[in-house]
Amino acid sequence: MQRITILGATGSIGASTLDVLARHPDRYAVYALTAQDKVEVLAAQCEKFHPQVAVVGTAEAAAALQGLLRQKGVKTEVAYGKDALCRVASAPECDTVMAAIVGAAGLEPTLAAARAGKKILLANKEALVMSGQLFMDAVTANGAMLLPIDSEHNAIFQCLPDAYHRSPGQHGVAKVMLTASGGPFLTRPTATLDLVTPEEAIAHPKWVMGRKISVDSATMMNKGLEVIEAHWLFGVAINQIEVVIHPQSIIHSMVSYVDGSVIAQLGNPDMRIPIAHALAYPERIASGASPLDLTRMSNLQFEKPDFLRFPCLKLAYEAVKAGGATPAILNAANEVAVQAFLDRRIGFRMIDSLIGRVLDRIAPDNIIAGIEHLLEHDRAAREATRALISRY
Ligand code: NAD
Ligand code: MG
Repeated sequence: MQRITILGATGSIGASTLDVLARHPDRYAVYALTAQDKVEVLAAQCEKFHPQVAVVGTAEAAAALQGLLRQKGVKTEVAYGKDALCRVASAPECDTVMAAIVGAAGLEPTLAAARAGKKILLANKEALVMSGQLFMDAVTANGAMLLPIDSEHNAIFQCLPDAYHRSPGQHGVAKVMLTASGGPFLTRPTATLDLVTPEEAIAHPKWVMGRKISVDSATMMNKGLEVIEAHWLFGVAINQIEVVIHPQSIIHSMVSYVDGSVIAQLGNPDMRIPIAHALAYPERIASGASPLDLTRMSNLQFEKPDFLRFPCLKLAYEAVKAGGATPAILNAANEVAVQAFLDRRIGFRMIDSLIGRVLDRIAPDNIIAGIEHLLEHDRAAREATRALISRY
């Protein structure tokens, strides 16, 4: 029996994970569920999955959850705050951690899981984008196992040999090709992009996801973060990572080998596929996703991304080339700008211009001394972004 902690259980990935777990009660038990708020949803999840612990963001949310659980007669222990998140991610009672908190808030608990040598199913790409080498070192030093949930990275993982271990040269890997749907604004006239509303930006053509990643998909910052994620996960140089726009989202990514072979992973766009893959790895279990009918896919298209339409993608490439704290600054500025866009305080095109200006303004350190040092850059970038926004 694999015992699981889900960080971010009430989100889109959290719900899909529970959906897969519910199909295999003989294999998986839930140790802990966490959420920032949404206590009603979390209470219903506790009633169904009986975790030992549930963690929320604040004392008020904890009191509300406690009350709901008492009414339902559910005996889950309730805790709150960052330390509690780190505790349930590293507890000896859990084997596997689904890291599905959105944004930088997931970094410390996910790192705690790595330091405790857990099997980590990584959806929270921002954590790896921010901490890069530091995170990978913690995984290696503590014998943790890192399995990607992001559909592209999970696809690449499936297209690589078992003995790969971040060594492209030894396995004849020429490059990895990340597919991107291009989001809702692939063909919209660029001159009208500043008029888009949050509702239009989060209406993704192929995937149903949380609001932040949906906006990231519309700016293609999501793909930029994924380029950085691929660099760390697979040990590939930046010039070995290619982004290909593929609006149908059927090929989830590819690996190109030196002999000219290209291996791809295909499937319907359903996050339960990578989740089931990573949960059961190296075995296979049913995910609930519908089977792919290739006869209905006569027209698969591929094109190069346009950096003028999607400047965030270019900013991300530049940030990972700069290295050090730059990706953490990029990520923090993006999180603040996306939230401001969702709150209707800035226009859509302000997201990329703000990130560009914050990157110009903050001098990043090239060597990261540790997690606290990284978080200082995160805080400084957030403050700088907020200061720029407040002038509008
Ligand atoms: P979501 O917004 O639907 O859910 C986020 C979860 O994190 C919620 O449970 C929320 O309560 C929790 N959370 C939010 N802020 C928090 C905080 N400050 N402290 C603690 N918990 C907090 O997001 P999602 O779409 O499920 O995405 C989660 C992560 O997975 C993101 O990093 C995203 O990039 C990645 N991801 C998502 C998808 C997808 O299809 N949704 C695909 C690939 C990768
Ligand atoms: Mg993805």
